[in-house]
Amino acid sequence: MLATTNETAREGEGETRAGFAALIGAPNVGKSTLVNALVGAKVTIVTPKVQTTRTLVRGIVTDGRSQVVLVDTPGIFPPRRRLDRAMVTTAWAGAHDADLVCVLVDAKRGFDAETEALTEKLPEVAKPKILVLNKIDTVEKPKLLTLAVEINARHKFDATFMVSALNGDGIADLKRYLAEHVPAGPWLYPEDEIADAPAQSLSTEITREKLFLKLHQELPYQLTVEVEDWKEVRGGALRIEQTIYVERESQRKIVLGEGGSMIKSIGAAARKELSELLERPVHLFLFVKVREGWGDDPERYREMGLEFPRE
Ligand code: GDP
Ligand code: MG
Repeated sequence: MLATTNETAREGEGETRAGFAALIGAPNVGKSTLVNALVGAKVTIVTPKVQTTRTLVRGIVTDGRSQVVLVDTPGIFPPRRRLDRAMVTTAWAGAHDADLVCVLVDAKRGFDAETEALTEKLPEVAKPKILVLNKIDTVEKPKLLTLAVEINARHKFDATFMVSALNGDGIADLKRYLAEHVPAGPWLYPEDEIADAPAQSLSTEITREKLFLKLHQELPYQLTVEVEDWKEVRGGALRIEQTIYVERESQRKIVLGEGGSMIKSIGAAARKELSELLERPVHLFLFVKVREGWGDDPERYREMGLEFPRE
């Protein structure tokens, strides 16, 4: 991989740039939607529910000779359970490790208590920070300007952007800024790896999204989807086996539904979307298993790329 990246850097004219941009913000401000808008394809889970993003899902934006790796962090919120704490710790770790930090604020919600708590911690992150006011399609322009001034008075950002991740307003400007502000250097991902690498994690995100959409409030957040088997079969189709892990037998029953009707409809919806995205036939097999004590098992945290909180 090193050889490939060096080659990429040498090819063509001009200097390449590459780096990580972390998106942080309260749950539901539109981080995942923004990643999708910047990348131009559906890469992370987006649902109207809060806290569905658990791991640091990456999207890769290429703009001219620049490569920006987007880190979509779990939302930052007051932690209660151990898993909550792991998510928040991971979100801040993502910010500290990045080359650039984008702080997202929902323009409609404005400068609320959650955003205030978040901005108070920003001085600890010694990285360039930009403010991104999202959902500008939902508020009047004068209110936007007031909000930008109000937030910058509390924390002076290097730049402020006003965007709508939903309809694309302001996205091109933000993309250009990110591309120009990551450090000079070779690309982090060779061009030909960009399309393939995230396919498996994408497949589990899609199944999780269907679970959340179909089960609404009934479903606990302690749920993971893992790829058990992934292979190409005759005719170029993909055969994918996934296991949905839940914490209790009662949850397993909910996911299965009457006579297996729920899991069947989740599987059908996920399969349809996957096959459209991967542009090939997909055979998807879903299993539901109970994994007890999931929330306290350090190994599970490691697998999800989360830090295990000791207390
Ligand atoms: P996250 O928790 O920060 O990752 O937020 P999501 O990306 O999952 O978005 C939460 C909700 O806000 C979803 O229902 C999105 O469709 C919605 N949303 C995101 N961006 C915009 C936007 O620019 N305008 C509007 N009106 N809604 C948005
Ligand atoms: Mg999200």
